[in-house]
Amino acid sequence: MMKYVYAFEDGKGDMKSLLGGKGANLAEMNRIGLPVPPGFTITTEVCNKYYTDGETLTSEVLDQVFEHLVELEKKTGKVLGGLENPLLVSVRSGAAISMPGMMDTVLNLGMNDETVKKISELTDNQRFALDSYRRFIQMFGDVVLEIEKYHFDSVFEGVKSEKGVKNDVDLDADDLLNVIEQYKAVVQRQKGFLFPQDPRKQLEMSIKAVFSSWNNPRATIYRNANEIPHDLGTAVTVQSMVFGNMGEDSGTGVAFTRNPSTGENVLFGEFLMNAQGEDVVAGIRTPLPVSQLKEKSPVVFEAFSTAVNNLEKHYRDIQDIEFTIEKGQLYFLQTRTGKRTANAAVNIAVDMVAEGLITKEEALMRIDPKDIDKLLHPTFDEKGLSAAKLLSKGLPASPGAASGHVYFYSEDVVAAKAKGIKTILVRTETSPEDIEGMITAEGILTARGGMTSHAAVVARGMGKCCVAGCSEIHVEEQQRFFRVGTQTFKEGDLISLDGNTGSVYEGIIPTTEVELTGKFGELMQWADEVRVLSVRTNADTPKDSAKAVEFGAEGIGLCRTEHMFFDENRIAIVRRMIVSQDTEDRVEALNDLLPFQRDDFIGIFKAMGSRPVTIRLLDPPLHEFLPHEKEDVASLAESMNMREDRLQEIVNTLSEFNPMLGHRGCRLAITYPEIYAMQCRAIFQAIVHVVKEDKVDIHPEIMIPLVGHDKELSILSDMVKSIGTQILGDAGIDTPYKVGTMIEVPRAALIADEIAENAEFFSFGTNDLTQMTLGFSRDDAGKFIGEYKQKGIFLRDPFESIDQRGVGKLMKMAVDLGRKTKPGLKIGICGEHGGEPASIEFCHNLGFDYVSCSPFRVPIARLAAAQAAIKNK
Ligand code: PEP
Ligand code: MG
Repeated sequence: MMKYVYAFEDGKGDMKSLLGGKGANLAEMNRIGLPVPPGFTITTEVCNKYYTDGETLTSEVLDQVFEHLVELEKKTGKVLGGLENPLLVSVRSGAAISMPGMMDTVLNLGMNDETVKKISELTDNQRFALDSYRRFIQMFGDVVLEIEKYHFDSVFEGVKSEKGVKNDVDLDADDLLNVIEQYKAVVQRQKGFLFPQDPRKQLEMSIKAVFSSWNNPRATIYRNANEIPHDLGTAVTVQSMVFGNMGEDSGTGVAFTRNPSTGENVLFGEFLMNAQGEDVVAGIRTPLPVSQLKEKSPVVFEAFSTAVNNLEKHYRDIQDIEFTIEKGQLYFLQTRTGKRTANAAVNIAVDMVAEGLITKEEALMRIDPKDIDKLLHPTFDEKGLSAAKLLSKGLPASPGAASGHVYFYSEDVVAAKAKGIKTILVRTETSPEDIEGMITAEGILTARGGMTSHAAVVARGMGKCCVAGCSEIHVEEQQRFFRVGTQTFKEGDLISLDGNTGSVYEGIIPTTEVELTGKFGELMQWADEVRVLSVRTNADTPKDSAKAVEFGAEGIGLCRTEHMFFDENRIAIVRRMIVSQDTEDRVEALNDLLPFQRDDFIGIFKAMGSRPVTIRLLDPPLHEFLPHEKEDVASLAESMNMREDRLQEIVNTLSEFNPMLGHRGCRLAITYPEIYAMQCRAIFQAIVHVVKEDKVDIHPEIMIPLVGHDKELSILSDMVKSIGTQILGDAGIDTPYKVGTMIEVPRAALIADEIAENAEFFSFGTNDLTQMTLGFSRDDAGKFIGEYKQKGIFLRDPFESIDQRGVGKLMKMAVDLGRKTKPGLKIGICGEHGGEPASIEFCHNLGFDYVSCSPFRVPIARLAAAQAAIKNK
């Protein structure tokens, strides 16, 4: 018989895919002896089964659920719906990968008109019992019965205003009885049936609702944004309830074993006495820092601190804990690996190595290369910051710096982004419904909520700048403005947020680049010690080259020479070259271009010193350098002193149906060899200059793009070498240089053994190789890739992460064939994939020598290369 349900004592921490993160952790916590309220978990497999069974729970599943319920009743000495000692349970979602707040939860299940009386008697706290019951009806009504929340809210607010009170706690038992009766009437009115009194029925309905919440829109959006597969399913954990709202000796809180924002090794968290869990997270009451628990209850604090210490030692990672104190007894409800900012991730990993908790390799594996990206983002420029007008200060909920136009609704943020507007989402508080806006906005500002509020937790997970709980601002979402002091900010007004300090400023503040030092530098050094792949950069200017070297680049893997052609000093000459009538005219224009190119190369060689520099000869189709709009053609014709119809004719002649498959790359040089000849002269003259004048020991590599035939390469490499021999010979130097090719046309991969005869290196141009292998235009595929991903045809965009089964097969073939001809042939990659971790691992496994990527991705590539080496030892 299939096992669908696991008691906590039947599970273990490594059973996440089956029991979900929550279920597996509760089992593990139970195993290591922490006080955990007993319960059981219905597996993620049942979630998938629930959908294949037409969104029903079969009797086999239900039988196992109720068998475990009976066991749970035995363990607790309580009975669900029992009148002696009623059991109340929570029903919670939990996927293998945490999706905070995205799915549903039901608490206080087991409450009905009868059990509520017994609970008030047993706890000697009628108000508490009634409050739990009304919370249950409200939650069940919302989550299970799908009744819009406002029906309940208006009842509750109505009762409060009738009584003339502001706070929930000011309602007494009679008021709550009134609320309960009205809530039940809401259910009957909205659903046409009575609120279910049978707790077993309540349980069955709640389990179904949690499974259904796996596919609610916000969970689906969250999975898309975080690349979580849609078929993982959620588990459902049913656990006996303990209560933090049983009086002043009870309480509830959340804590992190270290500071999740900075990584500092201090207990970090918040709690509220006499409250339920959602009171802390929802930010309705302002919680106290966990250090103050010591004053409230020294005994509990002592037990708490010891347990927390053991927890971190056991899991060897920062833990995010939910706890409840019921009448002085401490319970741990949940512990999971704590989400942390990128900065904290690095600091914690490095600290834990120093503390002897983990090894350097483990530390490297702990960092998501994507986090490095976040660390490299700029912060506010000091000068701009000191000149900026501070509006208010909230909590520094998630670091970073963001400026943008104020918007108050998720959909408005999304619409503004579509128009290219940078936005800040401002709300009184956020809820999971705001997820899309939070993903889209540059930053998030809330008026209410603590460091563990929804806005704070979600923003930190996304690495998005967030200032939360900025209580001086008053937000009127519907009227689309917020007020701070005497100032009013309307939709579209500009503000800036500093997530590191919690400051909110008026207007836009310029940003500065970060420096990589301290613990980050240490971690990067460890990465360099273990990685096998070299990391180069794609850079076309001395400035970018220098930046990349700062980030750790060990060479240039791709210098796209055409980028130099667009410079305003040169484009006129380039255009003259393109429109020239004959070779003589063209050579004349090219000769004018030569000094510019030579100076560019001198600058780059100097910036890179003895590191290898791969210069690619001209690649794009020539029409890219000419205007296409009629007015632009006319004004260019005028400035070039030629007839408009003549220029238009040239533009027309150069236009192609498929320019990416047209007259570009080495094909240009086969027909106009003088173009590459000029570029080669510029390169070799630059070599002579740098070697003779600056005495730098440089390592130039000249790369021919878009080769598909061995003859293309042999003709062009002969030309390069004959120019090289002549110029270097005349100068009397013998600087070694390499001539190689890109592998970016599928035919080149297929005949790589022949291509290798004339190549001293291969560099995979996976942008074009992907385009031509898949037959997907790299410029147009964006239109349908989204749908392809959604339908599971591609898990990742093949232009972002190498299609290993298809394009990857060609790459492997090219590596094998190339090295058959030339063992030890130097091989690299310079397409966009060269900075993407999964692709880097693939290249590592194929035995590449290097990867090359944009300067800002160099540190990501260094880490990803180290992780690839560790994983594939
Ligand atoms: C490539 O095709 O992968 C490449 C690096 O060249 P480009 O993107 O310039 O075509
Ligand atoms: Mg290319």
